[in-house]
Amino acid sequence: MAKLYAYISHKNGVADDTALELLTAAAKIDAGASVTAIVTGSGADLDKVCQEMAASYKEVLKIDNEAMAYPNAEIIRKALVEIIKDDDIVLLPHDTFGMDLGPGLSIKTDSPFAADIVDIEGVDGSTLKLIRQEFAGQVYTHVTCDISSGAILNIRPGVCKADESKAAGGSVTETSVSADLSAGRRYLETVIPEAGDVDITKSDVLVSVGRGIEDEENIEIAQELADAMGAVVSCSRPIVDAKWLEQSRQVGTSGKTVKPKVYMAMGISGSFQHLGGIKGGFMIAVNKNPKAPIFQVANVGVVADILEFMPELTEKIGDL
Ligand SMILES: Cc1cc2nc3c(=O)[nH]c(=O)nc-3n(C[C@H](O)[C@H](O)[C@H](O)COP(=O)(O)OP(=O)(O)OC[C@H]3O[C@@H](n4cnc5c(N)ncnc54)[C@H](O)[C@@H]3O)c2cc1C
Repeated sequence: MAKLYAYISHKNGVADDTALELLTAAAKIDAGASVTAIVTGSGADLDKVCQEMAASYKEVLKIDNEAMAYPNAEIIRKALVEIIKDDDIVLLPHDTFGMDLGPGLSIKTDSPFAADIVDIEGVDGSTLKLIRQEFAGQVYTHVTCDISSGAILNIRPGVCKADESKAAGGSVTETSVSADLSAGRRYLETVIPEAGDVDITKSDVLVSVGRGIEDEENIEIAQELADAMGAVVSCSRPIVDAKWLEQSRQVGTSGKTVKPKVYMAMGISGSFQHLGGIKGGFMIAVNKNPKAPIFQVANVGVVADILEFMPELTEKIGDL
């Protein structure tokens, strides 16, 4: 079989959670394959990430170039095109960066592209069987992909359990690229967002409200439940768009990534943009639609009206 590569996202010398999730995804394509981690960047941070990855990946390909100090998909695409051969398969995280990199890489390598993969069913000959979500999480689709000319696969963060075995004892090989690494886009500066009123990423329990909360005044019902549980209120994007809660409380791909012990999804449908911001934890979903996609990922699902369920639960906790 062709070579399997995983692109490692990292920041400040620390690999992203997706780094080891891609290793699990690769094993679903070929359990016996030696997967190569590609790590691009510059300087000491890059070295740190390469060493970290060598504990889990048998081979780590390091590309150290100042032009790649900031993850500019346009530049990284040019570098990867030099490395990837005809039938190689490249796994990328389906995050903002992966969505920027994947489609162009697929065109340049003349290989098929599949985005937002939530599961890999296996390979039959040269046919890879995948499951994707479409229409903002409304439907799951079974997709087949002919991998005889390779493939670029964007795997949704959080769907594969990270392979933390750390038994690879892998080697780091440095390679350089001869391509012109100039780009139309330029890195200017990193703007760190202002600290919001609460840090939802630090809370063990989140009561997260979605459009099902129906009215700004009802946020108070969620806040009362959160207070009773010692939790913090977070939300989906429409709640921020309606200006009912601060942007700092938004969970999702364009909001915060959270890792609570318990995540209570109240009136949230379960779009991939929302779920992309939840990394682990026990999920309890309450939704009045029994077919809401969130029930497919929740550990416990309750079909109920949140405007009745939340006050009742608050009262019961108060009675304890
Ligand atoms: C580029 C981009 C980035 C995005 N980033 C994010 C992001 O970071 N975070 C995010 O959340 N979204 C994000 N979105 C939006 C995302 O696609 C969804 O539109 C959004 O997550 C839906 O939010 P929701 O689940 O609250 O609302 P809906 O999808 O409208 O779902 C509301 C749910 O509430 C249920 N409901 C209604 N009333 C009740 C009730 N009384 N009791 C119980 N259940 C009830 C309904 O059955 C439904 O399932 C992004 C979209 C784009 C295009």
